This record gives sequence, structure tokens and C-alpha cells, in this order.
Amino acid sequence: MNDKSKERIPSSDEVRDVSQIDGESVRFGTGWISGVIGIALSGAGLFTVLCIQFPTILTMPMLRDYYPLPIIRALLHVVLVSGFLFGVLSLSLRRRKIFGGVAILFALIAGLLGGAQIQMEGVVNGAENQALPSLSLDWFLLNLMFWCAVFIPLERWFALRRDQPIFRHGWRTDLAYFFVSALAVQWVTIITMKPAQVLFAWVLDEQWRTSIGKQPLWLQIIEILLITDFVQYWAHRAFHRIPFLWKFHAIHHSAERMDWLAGSRLHIIDIVVTRGLSYMPLFALGFADAALLGYGVIVTLQATLIHANVRFKFGPLRYWLVTPQFHHWHHSDEDAAIDKNFAVHLPIWDWLFGSYYLPGDQWPASYGVKGDKPPEGFFRQLFWPFKRGGA
Ligand SMILES: [Zn+2]
Ligand SMILES: [Zn+2]
Repeated sequence: MNDKSKERIPSSDEVRDVSQIDGESVRFGTGWISGVIGIALSGAGLFTVLCIQFPTILTMPMLRDYYPLPIIRALLHVVLVSGFLFGVLSLSLRRRKIFGGVAILFALIAGLLGGAQIQMEGVVNGAENQALPSLSLDWFLLNLMFWCAVFIPLERWFALRRDQPIFRHGWRTDLAYFFVSALAVQWVTIITMKPAQVLFAWVLDEQWRTSIGKQPLWLQIIEILLITDFVQYWAHRAFHRIPFLWKFHAIHHSAERMDWLAGSRLHIIDIVVTRGLSYMPLFALGFADAALLGYGVIVTLQATLIHANVRFKFGPLRYWLVTPQFHHWHHSDEDAAIDKNFAVHLPIWDWLFGSYYLPGDQWPASYGVKGDKPPEGFFRQLFWPFKRGGA
């Protein structure tokens, strides 16, 4: 199956020489790899130190009580020392000193703050004691480690485009989105859920709501997937077809390389409107909390997977579930695929409403926005939809 599909996958137009990234050699021995590892380690170490020092501002109340501090301290020590050493190695090997310098700087700041010996300030336990939700720096670190551990090997072993490096074109922009959405996860959850909760909880009679919440969990999850995807389908379609809305959604489509990180690229207005609308029927109907949580896990996994640079086609399941191939076509810039495949969970909605597109074993040749292209970079993209003419 894979051999057949490989022939039909057009080779990526970028970086034929995988030893070059942004025009610079990244070969072993150039100090590039040690620089990146140094920054990743000292950065993670510094963020962890900040989380321990300012838990009420930078950690999630629901996770705070579960961290095994003695183990974290021991790991922190190793991480900071290794980050520092990799930084020194990069400095000695690489002509451009920025990576090594940043790695050493992060490790030194973490050390000055107290390093692995840092004491935790008096923590106000529980979210209810906090006037405002905290920023979730711990959530960012945990998520980044989890997704990297899952998808970096997966995208190496089962790559759709083998010549696409981890640090491909646009990765900084996507990482910025990933960082901000993880950091603000509690705020975004409130902004997207509160209106639905407050405005729609009364819609159905309490007896109905109770009986919906009492159904078997698997049935509730299937119902939630069908309902949210129906709402999401039309919201998504509106974002494509209404020019004012398209400028916000064009940001998501501006990704020209697909991988697990590319799906993070979403304008805040797109997130708030689409999610806010999808949640409304859920709160109106009164599904059980466990079903909502199950849905949350599925949507996160599926939304990440469908952007990934993996060649899995999922056999006959692909007609029932949105797969990477299905969503890669949604991101294609080929004429035949424009305004197709709006669903995120179940292709049935595209099939019913005439926007289904899955041409056999083929994958798109390239991705991106046709016509007026948004600029690259988180902040430029944040303001771009508000500019007249979109230039
Ligand atoms: Zn779209
Ligand atoms: Zn997408």
C-alpha cells in the first residue's frame, strides 16, 4: 500500500538538501544541532524554574498539586547543566554565536534564580482562590514534550514527505501559535465555553438534559462528534466563503508545510467564533462532563494528527473519519480542492453537503493560500485580517 502511494506523492519543493535549513548548514559538527539542543534544554529548564518560582501565575491549579518536586528538581539540575554545556559546544563550533549564546544565557538566568534549589513561594491552592486564571507555562512544556515525543518519531518513520525537516519553513510562526495557545489555554476555554454555558443551558427542559447526560458514554461521544462537526462544518464553510471571515481563516491556510505543529496556526478570532459556536449545542443538550472530556481528548488528538506529515491512509476507515489525507486536501492550493473537506471529525457532512474531495491514493502537491497571502510571523498575522485590503 505504501509503495503505491509513495509513487504518487510529489516530492516537496523545499530543501532538497536536508543538511540546509534557512540557507545554513546544519550538518553534524557545525554547532547547529548542539545549539538547538542547548536552547531546548536551557529553555525548558528556565521555564520550569519560573513555574516553581511563580506557581500561582504560571501553572494550572488543577495540575499544581500533582508535580513530584524532588524528581523535577533532580531532572532540572541535569537539564540546566547539559543545556549550558551544549551551548558552550555550539559556541566553539558555530560561526554564528546566537544559538550557543542564548542556551548559555537561559541556563545562567535559571541558575541566578536559584536553579534546581529554587524554593516554591506560598501557593494559593485551588482555582477558586484565584481571582483570574493563571497562564499555563507548565501546560506548554508538558504539551510540547508530549507531542514531540509522539510525532517526531512518527513523522520520521512514516513520513509523507521524507525531505521535510523538523525545522521546516514557517516553524517559528507555528511554534509561536502553539506557545500562545498553550499559555492561554485557561483563558481561551473560558472565552469559548462561558457564552455557550450561560446562554444555552436553559434551551432544553431539565428532564431532557438529564436523560441525554445519562446515555452510555460512547453514545454521548458519538453524538457530540456528530453535532459539533455539523456546527463546525458550517462555521468553517462560512469562514471560507465570506470574504471578511476568510481573512481570519486564511491564517490557518497560510501554512505551506504540513506537520503536527502546523495545525496550531489559528487566528484567535477563528478559534473563539468556531469553538464558541460548536460548544453551544453541547451545553444546550446537557451532555455529561465525562463525555465532554472524552470529546476534548479526541478533538485534540485528531486535530493534531490530520495535519501531520504522515502517510497513513487508514484503509476503509478514511471514508468514516477525517484522516491526514482528507485534511491535507483541505489545505491544498490546487483548484479542484479549494473549498472542500470542511469536516474535522466525520467526512459525512462534506459528503452530504457536496464538498467531499478524496481523489484515490493521491496527496496534494503543495499547500497554502491562493491569491492574497497573509504574511509570515505571529504578530503580523494577528493584525493582518484587520487591515483594509489585506495587503
Ligand atoms: Zn479551512
Ligand atoms: Zn487545518
